[in-house]
This record gives sequence, C-alpha cells and structure tokens, in this order.
Amino acid sequence: MASALATRCPACSTVFRVVPDQLRVSEGWVRCGRCTEVFKATESLVDLETGARRDWADVLPRSPTPGLPNAGPPPADAQAEAGAPA
Ligand SMILES: [Zn+2]
Repeated sequence: MASALATRCPACSTVFRVVPDQLRVSEGWVRCGRCTEVFKATESLVDLETGARRDWADVLPRSPTPGLPNAGPPPADAQAEAGAPA
C-alpha cells in the first residue's frame, strides 16, 4: 500500500507530489516549480491523501541490516602487577 507522497515548499507553501525514487536520487532536494526555491523535500513530507506528516525514514524501504558481529572477545582481565613494596 504505497500512498502518494507530497511535500510543501517552505517559501510559497505550494504542495507538490513527489516520488520516493526521485528523492533518493537527489538526496531529498527538490526545486519548487512555482517559485524555484530549492528545499529538502524529505523534511516536509506529507501524505497526499491524508495530509499527515510522513517520515522519510518510514518511506524508504528498509535495507536489510546485516547482523552485527557481536562475538568479540571479552576484554581480558588485566592482571595488575601488584609490585607494591610493603
Ligand atoms: Zn515555492
């Protein structure tokens, strides 16, 4: 269920439809077709149908996170040389 995304130009408040693929390529930057303001669309994403705020992180398909190797050796107990003279 991919709902249409839109973004709002901070300069003239025009709402534009945006395509996630496009934003990924441009790293989120778009140019307003009305006032030519260049702004980061990913910071003002809205759902075109509901007008609800959308997070860019939620829009992007999650890349599979490789399991971090968690098998490092435990820190060795440093044997303190207790060479203190009595
Ligand atoms: Zn604008």
